Amino acid sequence: MKISEIMTDMDYGPAPEAQDIVQDWLGRHEAGFGHFIDGTFTGAGETFAVTNPATGGEIARVTQGTTADVDAAVAAARKAQPKWAGLQGHQRARHLYALARHVQQHARFLAVLESLDNGKPIRESRDADIPLVARHFYHHAGWAELVAEEFPDRQPWGVCGQIIPWNFPLLMLAWKVAPALAAGNTVVLKPAEYTPLTALAFAEIAAECGLPAGVLNIVTGDGATGAAIAGHDGVDKLAFTGSTEVGKILRRQTAGSGKGLTLELGGKSPFIVFEDADLDAAVEGVVDAIWFNQGQVCCAGSRVLVAEAIEARFTERLKARMARLTVGNPLDKNTDIGAIVHPVQRDRIAELVAQGRAEGAEIHQGAAPEGCFYPPTIITNAQPASVLSTEEIFGPVVTITPFRTPDDAVALANNTRYGLAASIWSEGITQALDIARQVKAGVIWVNGTNLFDAAAGFGGYRESGYGREGGREGMAAYMRSPARTGQETDLPALDPVPGGPTGAALDRTAKLFIGGKQARPDSGYVYQVNGAKGPIGLAALGSRKDIRNAVEAAAKASGWANTTGHQRAQILYYLGENLSARAEEFTARLTASGTKEKTARAEVEAAIARCFRYAAWADKFDGAVHNTVSGHVTLAMHEPLGVMGVVAPTEAPLAGLLSLMLPALAMGNRVVAVPSQTHPLSATDLYQVIETSDIPAGVVNIVTGPRDELARVLAQHDGVDALWYVGSARKQVEADSAGNLKQVWTEADGARDWAGSEGQSRDFLARATQVKNIWVPYGA
Ligand code: NAD
Ligand code: MN
Repeated sequence: MKISEIMTDMDYGPAPEAQDIVQDWLGRHEAGFGHFIDGTFTGAGETFAVTNPATGGEIARVTQGTTADVDAAVAAARKAQPKWAGLQGHQRARHLYALARHVQQHARFLAVLESLDNGKPIRESRDADIPLVARHFYHHAGWAELVAEEFPDRQPWGVCGQIIPWNFPLLMLAWKVAPALAAGNTVVLKPAEYTPLTALAFAEIAAECGLPAGVLNIVTGDGATGAAIAGHDGVDKLAFTGSTEVGKILRRQTAGSGKGLTLELGGKSPFIVFEDADLDAAVEGVVDAIWFNQGQVCCAGSRVLVAEAIEARFTERLKARMARLTVGNPLDKNTDIGAIVHPVQRDRIAELVAQGRAEGAEIHQGAAPEGCFYPPTIITNAQPASVLSTEEIFGPVVTITPFRTPDDAVALANNTRYGLAASIWSEGITQALDIARQVKAGVIWVNGTNLFDAAAGFGGYRESGYGREGGREGMAAYMRSPARTGQETDLPALDPVPGGPTGAALDRTAKLFIGGKQARPDSGYVYQVNGAKGPIGLAALGSRKDIRNAVEAAAKASGWANTTGHQRAQILYYLGENLSARAEEFTARLTASGTKEKTARAEVEAAIARCFRYAAWADKFDGAVHNTVSGHVTLAMHEPLGVMGVVAPTEAPLAGLLSLMLPALAMGNRVVAVPSQTHPLSATDLYQVIETSDIPAGVVNIVTGPRDELARVLAQHDGVDALWYVGSARKQVEADSAGNLKQVWTEADGARDWAGSEGQSRDFLARATQVKNIWVPYGA
């Protein structure tokens, strides 16, 4: 080709990255890799092939981890943990710092290896993945230094099991390993079966840096190996990134085990373009949102929602941009889109697109070479119910859907079971931030997309999982408050007493409180409540239907989330004042149920004090502003979870119930509460106090009855966003929560003195909120 021709067509010539250092390394491991356990590599066991998806060729063999391998790794981690946690923070910081330095020294090697194993363009592994890996270790070296001072009441979990996916293999390792080690945990990590090689290379680097034996253990294998880690009794906390399907399996598998659990799952994230957006910037944004890493990104902007007035113009520009993307050899520095990680994933993408086509969607595609590649794809005319609009495709495929008004945009954006991320494009700050508030997602980018930094938390709402990685909240997820144990007493079954055809008994019975009104139970039955010396009253026997009604009432009271902290504080103070005015009655009620008068008096005082305490917090539990990437600030906002189920402890029936309800209310949640089954009458006495305290109808709902039956209805209900449960059915409740992956916090009865100082802390507020990280241009 002549120079003049090159100048006219401006095509790129091939520019392959050299791969000899990686080929040398692979050559040295031709016999197959073992696991990295207790500071050394085991011999290879039964192995499986690791392939380069761009060529289909085998590049290595790794060992399928057995339960014995997992046992050995957990044992090594267990043995190493006390000493690791016992190091000064500064000493752990030096180790993490060394890991960061060594990652940088080996950056080119790691980038090439990542691209070979995963198929991602070298431009991305070199400029995004590996620099972010180093960044994570530096950031968390800092946390290791500070953790004792910054989290004085918390301690490491112990041994962390970590299971990661194939889309950002080494980066996901860094996101998991760095905070775990900084906090004083040791780790057993399993990389994904398609992409295990950079984790093994990292293990070599860790050994080279002198990380103590057993602190980091890497076991390779497939889902069976992952399941062995998740189910291992010696694992104290499990952190998972991957599909929502496996996330739900892990929720059920770990139910009742007391293990910590964080889940970073799938998404179907909206990319919202308003009429006043900078269109060229937004088009470039879509390139980064869906064609970065072949679209195999959990937070990929896979649903473009665009204002109707600019839809045609925007789509044309995007199509023109798509036509200029280069799909091909991942190791070529000019490649925009590399190989799909594995033919199984490529076929899944093709199948979903074919299904969408059959449903009437229009498909527009660029070009891609033969092999494990998929062309960049734009979908128009996909109906909201189409698989293309609802399923996570995990490929370079984006839908474009027009919207009329901002309200339509929000409705479309939130019309998904996921809630990982969202991108909002508008030159109007009011518009952009108003939408940021309304979209249900853990990460929001204003006029940007796929921005990441270790100083900001990352993680989702709803079925995108829970827990955050990065930032302060990411560190908090790797530590726990000292464990509490209580007694495992099951409650007696309740004897239903008929309310009678005339409802005579019902009229003498404490009713339910739903939507601001006292309500008869759907069952028509009541149950007898006993005091120290026999029956002291009747309570309504609530059932599934009553819980459903209560959840519906709570859902309607969504305005509570938008009140100011000051308004909520006023109402909680008023609640405390009204409770105080009736302190004698409540004391008498508690005394009747068998509590000594002095104790009863103290409990009522504690309940009143709780109201004041959480009124105080209502306008003070603030988020943070993170200093992240240049030209941006990241606002970490505390948002309420939504509708919360609250199942109160058996003892301290008044203070216990309020200790759970008040922090939830203070943070803007609505509550469906199940009071102590044994002593429900102080809760039913609250109705009038609530009514006279200006708490809006539906914000507090109370259903008395069989605790565990009602708790399980709450756990299974998709309209419930979070559940706090005190009692003995923790395993069932946690397993039942997997349906919509609501956040659950459980504790045994009697594990703390609810009327004492243990009944209130900042922890309750953290549990009643989730962090939304909003990336805003600043000083650009
Ligand atoms: P996956 O959830 O099956 O795999 C993720 C990790 O979990 C891998 O290490 C795997 O070995 C392990 N695993 C699988 N089954 C397990 C089990 N029962 N117990 C413990 N560990 C188990 O994801 P995948 O099959 O690689 O991809 C399927 C889909 O998941 C993708 O198409 C995409 O939609 C989604 N996905 C999401 C992410 C994300 O970052 N959120 C990452 C990868 C895949
Ligand atoms: Mn591979």
